[in-house]
Amino acid sequence: MARIKSVCVYCGSSNEVSAGYLRLATELGRTLAQKGLRLVYGGGGVGLMGACARAAHGDGGEVLGIMPKFLLHKERVFEEVEHRIVDDMHTRKQMMFDESDAFITLPGGIGTLEEAVEMLSWARLGLHAKPMAFLDEDGFWDPFFELMDHIIEGKFTPEEFRASLVQADTPEMAIAALEDRIVVLDQD
Ligand code: AMP
Repeated sequence: MARIKSVCVYCGSSNEVSAGYLRLATELGRTLAQKGLRLVYGGGGVGLMGACARAAHGDGGEVLGIMPKFLLHKERVFEEVEHRIVDDMHTRKQMMFDESDAFITLPGGIGTLEEAVEMLSWARLGLHAKPMAFLDEDGFWDPFFELMDHIIEGKFTPEEFRASLVQADTPEMAIAALEDRIVVLDQD
């Protein structure tokens, strides 16, 4: 049976957000480290990205950051962990995908949304079967789930796709959902 070893986290880079979001990112980083799961992320030291990576590293977890050259300063690459500097956004996204067995999407902005939706669309096209979960404590992703319901109700995406849309409100629940899903996929 395959086991999840590396989890890719997509999350916001803004430092301006409420403390609760940064705390959730910190909790997720700690939980990944405590469970011996490697964190793969965009490499930044800012916003939820920085909070999650610092927490995972602080608790002895393995972390891999992947940062495109042009964002090195803007997103302040977190140098205390393994990091790779790549040429562009596409290379970053592909490498984050290749290095991970599963994905967790924390609250974030347009970049986070873009990354999560692209992973969903690759799954929809049958390009991968890696499990994904959206993690929030306050219903941050509810409007996205409502939009997906609307899309499914309009029959633009099949009903079965709902199974790929997992929402969790604690890091433990998100990781458990990924682990359950990988077992289901193994049995297929
Ligand atoms: P945001 O949610 O807008 O704060 O962005 C979160 C992270 O996603 C930042 O590190 C962005 O650089 C990154 N990002 C934005 N667009 C892309 C993309 N097309 N591919 C990979 N990463 C991206």
